[in-house]
Amino acid sequence: MDYPTPVQNLIAQFARLPGIGKRSAERIALHLLKSNGDTNRQLAQSILDAKAKIRNCSRCGSYTEHDPCEICDSPRRDQGSICVVEGPNDILTLERAGVHRGVYHALMGRISPLNGVGAEQLRIAALLDRVRSDKPAEVILALGADVESEATTSHLIDQLKPLGVSVSRIALGLPAGSALETADEVTLARALEGRRQV
Ligand SMILES: [Zn+2]
Repeated sequence: MDYPTPVQNLIAQFARLPGIGKRSAERIALHLLKSNGDTNRQLAQSILDAKAKIRNCSRCGSYTEHDPCEICDSPRRDQGSICVVEGPNDILTLERAGVHRGVYHALMGRISPLNGVGAEQLRIAALLDRVRSDKPAEVILALGADVESEATTSHLIDQLKPLGVSVSRIALGLPAGSALETADEVTLARALEGRRQV
């Protein structure tokens, strides 16, 4: 005997989320069935609110309620130092570590031929436009250390160098094959301080 269809649907929805297996999905669904209606309504409302109110900053790509975001809009940030990362989650990681006083540019992915992601699917053209119009003093490439991130970094260097901007990349300090978000604060600080010009 299986659960009634609405419960099966609920379990199936949770099981689609990253990091949640069938067993966890089942546990969460049963937990929700036991909790009171208000709690569940708040949960549902939070999911809808987040989607409705949060967008990506049109300049840097970070998650924000206001466009441009607080970082892009801040006079206290060094607008002449653009740190390029793969995704908005990397911006959060670097902000939490407090290691960059400039601004950011999220590519929204990395070049991955196997997954059909080419340079034109990423926010690379937007980065080049930004460098041409804002004329920043430096662009810091802070991508991951695996093969696809490396290929993306090389592509960016080829595109950015002709624009005459100073380009540097973070020091190799990030464990190979890992994403930025798995690195701790000290590693991130060292990686940024040890950046070298390319
Ligand atoms: Zn922004």
